[in-house]
Amino acid sequence: MAAYPYVTHDYDVVVVGAGGAGLRATLGMAEQGLRTACVTKVFPTRSHTVAAQGGIAASLSNMGPDNWQWHMYDTVKGSDWLGDTDAMEYLAREAPKAVYELEHYGVPFSRTEEGKIYQRPFGGHTTEFGEGPPVQRTCAAADRTGHAILHTLYGQSLKEKAEFFIEYFALDLIITDGKCTGVVCWKLDDGTIHVFNAKMVVLATGGYGRAYFSATSAHTCTGDGGGMVARAGLPLQDMEFVQFHPTGIYGSGCLITEGARGEGGYLTNSEGERFMERYAPTYKDLASRDVVSRCMTIEIREGRGVGEHKDHIFLNLMHLPPETLHERLPGISESARIFAGVDVTREPIPVIPTVHYNMGGIPTNYWGEVLNPTEEKPDATFPGLMAVGEAGCASVHGANRLGSNSLIDLVVFGRAAAIRAGQVVDRNAPVPATNVAQVEKALERFDALRNANGSTSTAELRLEMQKTMQADAAVFRTDKTLADGVERMKVIAAKMADIKVTDRSLIWNSDLMETLELTNLMPSALTTIVAAEARKESRGAHAHEDWPERDDANWRKHSLAWVEGNEVKLAYRPVHLEPLTTQEEGGIDLKKIAPKARVY
Ligand SMILES: Cc1cc2nc3c(=O)[nH]c(=O)nc-3n(C[C@H](O)[C@H](O)[C@H](O)COP(=O)(O)OP(=O)(O)OC[C@H]3O[C@@H](n4cnc5c(N)ncnc54)[C@H](O)[C@@H]3O)c2cc1C
Repeated sequence: MAAYPYVTHDYDVVVVGAGGAGLRATLGMAEQGLRTACVTKVFPTRSHTVAAQGGIAASLSNMGPDNWQWHMYDTVKGSDWLGDTDAMEYLAREAPKAVYELEHYGVPFSRTEEGKIYQRPFGGHTTEFGEGPPVQRTCAAADRTGHAILHTLYGQSLKEKAEFFIEYFALDLIITDGKCTGVVCWKLDDGTIHVFNAKMVVLATGGYGRAYFSATSAHTCTGDGGGMVARAGLPLQDMEFVQFHPTGIYGSGCLITEGARGEGGYLTNSEGERFMERYAPTYKDLASRDVVSRCMTIEIREGRGVGEHKDHIFLNLMHLPPETLHERLPGISESARIFAGVDVTREPIPVIPTVHYNMGGIPTNYWGEVLNPTEEKPDATFPGLMAVGEAGCASVHGANRLGSNSLIDLVVFGRAAAIRAGQVVDRNAPVPATNVAQVEKALERFDALRNANGSTSTAELRLEMQKTMQADAAVFRTDKTLADGVERMKVIAAKMADIKVTDRSLIWNSDLMETLELTNLMPSALTTIVAAEARKESRGAHAHEDWPERDDANWRKHSLAWVEGNEVKLAYRPVHLEPLTTQEEGGIDLKKIAPKARVY
């Protein structure tokens, strides 16, 4: 192996990732006087969070009555009763506080006439525990909410003297005696290796949308945190639940926010019919995402798709007042023009369900502490390691996430992780010493990939994986597509041993970086399809045609998937049913969130 000298850095906390979750955690840690480093492979404000358009959910009641119990009910129902009750309560309760904090940090929210934060309707968000009309709960900065949040949090983190290591690629975790003690990184612009020793490592690396062929997520969404965790011998949770957003632009996958339907847009089929009225009579186009995606797929399958190949659906905004388009949805008018050649004031936008969000990820409790579950201790934590944001699974989204519930998840749990770290990290203790053996191990893997000289290019193998996932772990799944997909994915994963990297340099080597990313996508894809094949029911985003009913008696449980070579070992852990507070203490009436049929 080539010699890789390395630079070492000592911190109380190292956050990997500078999206909304990573920056909120970084800011919170630094505010509490913890010496904090934030390592990121892309410039902070280029993280995928920048693309979040629609908004961030919190029951502020600025536009009409609302409360955290209604938000919690909607989240429980959205999750199809797979979310953890304590975590969902924490999310809904803390959401208003977290949004007001963002406001005070300087996020330029859109405003109502009275100067309050503007809130729009979003799918699955209702009043009166699902009995009342849709609620306006989603706080927005026009259709650039994520952009506004990232810029604000980055500026605040700099002000608090957090230290940023930008365009550093995290390779692997350092594990010492059953505890995480740091992370090994490769600096992309000069090829040097950096070892970060820390008392706490926080993974905030985002989702793995790029395991699929057509996704709204950025090319950087490659599940690197999940890959590192899988290599450390820890499990991933609920990976079978992958959200398809109803309105990706046909062809490019570019997202048209649900806010477009929130502002009054609606879907039509080839007969010009507003078909959602038939499937979801109450909430229509604002039913939950998995529901709308399935209805669109059914319309297309039954021959009522639009376009030459009758393979997509129209989203209509022509009837909206020009002021609404201009003030509330300026970015999507531009996206529709660029990616579909459509003028939204005159023509409908061609759309199709597109992979958008990963409900599964690294299992954590509601403080962001990573779990290392065993049968006896399903809630045991793994010391020194936290995960927040889309990389983590707390789990608040269960089997399906509601729109605008991810941005709030980033800031609520980024903040929670900082609060927890403030309690458990001993500021006076020495930083763990460099674990040389572990660093060597990570560098051996790096060196082997750098010199990989097989016969399959990274781009070819990635495409094969993406097409298989798109075809076999899709909106609708069957025993056969899943079983075939598992076999195919095992063969594809085994081809990692035959990978070919052509560029051997250490500086700006995108071939090597994409290969490292593929080593993280692969365990994500494999665990997704294996866990999907095993789950013999339909729940949330997992729509199984051979098992069309939700089966609470057998399947209301989280899946855990360990990767061992190209095999996946599965186990399950119970869903948390206990709330944080009883009804007497002001908590939710548990009868309100008891499982029932999920209709919108
Ligand atoms: C187009 C689009 C629109 C969306 N709109 C909304 C919305 O309106 N409302 C809502 O609630 N949700 C929305 N979502 C979902 C939400 O935006 C994401 O779930 C969320 O932004 C993820 O944030 P994150 O902080 O977890 O990760 P990201 O923002 O993806 O950031 C990941 C970070 O990790 C870093 N990183 C990753 N791997 C490594 C590595 N190996 N080494 C070093 N650094 C690494 C990256 O550099 C980056 O800084 C949208 C998603 C998309 C794709």
